[in-house]
Amino acid sequence: MNNRFDALIIGAGASGMMCAIAAKKKNPHLRVAIIEKNDRVGKKLLATGNGRCNLTNQHIDAVKYAGSFRNQARSFFSQYDCAFLRGYFETLGLLTYADDAGRVYPISRQASSVLDVIRFGCERLGVEIFCNETICSLKKRGVGFVVKTKEREFYSDKLVIACGSKAAPKLGGSAAGADFLKNFGHSVIPFSPALCPLSVKSDILKSLKGLRANGRVSLLRGTQTVKTEDGEIQFADGALSGICVFNLSLYAKQGDVILVDLLNNNSEKKLYNILIKNKKLFSQLTMDNLLTGILQKRLAQAVMKAGGLQDFSRLCDDLTDMELKKIAKQLKNMRFEIGGKAGFEQAQCAMGGVAGKEIDEKTMQSKKVRNLFVCGEAIDICGECGGFNLHFAFVSGLIAGEHL
Ligand SMILES: Cc1cc2nc3c(=O)[nH]c(=O)nc-3n(C[C@H](O)[C@H](O)[C@H](O)COP(=O)(O)OP(=O)(O)OC[C@H]3O[C@@H](n4cnc5c(N)ncnc54)[C@H](O)[C@@H]3O)c2cc1C
Repeated sequence: MNNRFDALIIGAGASGMMCAIAAKKKNPHLRVAIIEKNDRVGKKLLATGNGRCNLTNQHIDAVKYAGSFRNQARSFFSQYDCAFLRGYFETLGLLTYADDAGRVYPISRQASSVLDVIRFGCERLGVEIFCNETICSLKKRGVGFVVKTKEREFYSDKLVIACGSKAAPKLGGSAAGADFLKNFGHSVIPFSPALCPLSVKSDILKSLKGLRANGRVSLLRGTQTVKTEDGEIQFADGALSGICVFNLSLYAKQGDVILVDLLNNNSEKKLYNILIKNKKLFSQLTMDNLLTGILQKRLAQAVMKAGGLQDFSRLCDDLTDMELKKIAKQLKNMRFEIGGKAGFEQAQCAMGGVAGKEIDEKTMQSKKVRNLFVCGEAIDICGECGGFNLHFAFVSGLIAGEHL
């Protein structure tokens, strides 16, 4: 086999495959190959959006992202927006729909449809794909690159790092891309898990394991509110989870506090008045019935415990005004100190990767090494849940492909 290529892409994930398609669409004469360590392409893509693949979002905006590449991404999001990406997928045969929150999915509601149109696109355009190839070394030679795997040696004029991040190692996540880029002299911010549960220090959490409730979560650092999100909060053993918590995890640090407001549509004063009414309504019932009709019993008990009330054999009628005020306060201010983040196994994405300033956002080419390109999660940028990460992966791959 002739192992000389015009462009070699390392990683057959969202960004790498889109890069290959864009390159061949623009320059059909180019010889383009993808090298993938897994036994098949797009494993992670199949797991996205709970198997439905939330591929982009109608509200693409740099404010939805964190990381050093964020401001540069701003410049291409106006051109490569949601409508553009949906249109591009349509040219590959994929029809999509948007839900009420602007999240875009394939109309088949199956991630496999997204992967299939990409796979078929690669096949149709003549992209060569090598799976089960582990890279042993990756070096610059002249104006091009030599890539050695256990099986063979490749030579290419241009090289694209599309290896993703360390998130979800079972689906192919690894630090390889960042390591390759470091060897090429790039500055790399170490990967840390993102879009993941946050472990919290709390005695009451054990009793809430498995419970879900809607509310508002705020990330507090000292007196500053870093970020606020509404949605379903999932209480796990020693951790808080759910999409709203995942979004806080992008910014969270050990020692920060998550403030949970279980009744964000009601003011503390209004809740206090409701509790006065409930005290009368349920006067002869034990006090853990005070929040009947408002919260699940386990959650009601946890709120009361957090407010310093322990003896649930007391009657509602016995509750003092001060105690009612404390309960009203707790309903809107349950505090959980963050002990850390869940590991990469539970993370959908990772913060970190190559420093944004070292990549040219117009081409996705390295500013340090000529003919070296980077796309997807190997770059230091991470978006919130909702299709923002796949959007970045697809679009950055596409830009790289168009400039190969
Ligand atoms: C469970 C889950 C659900 C998600 N759901 C969504 C969602 O609905 N919407 C959304 O926007 N985002 C979602 N994401 C995030 C999204 O999948 C990623 O941001 C996106 O896939 C990143 O694309 P990428 O091309 O950079 O990396 P990847 O898609 O991870 O692809 C990288 C590829 O490189 C390969 N590779 C790694 N190292 C090497 C090496 N040394 N040699 C050869 N190949 C290598 C990997 O095997 C992999 O195939 C989800 C993530 C997870 C884990």
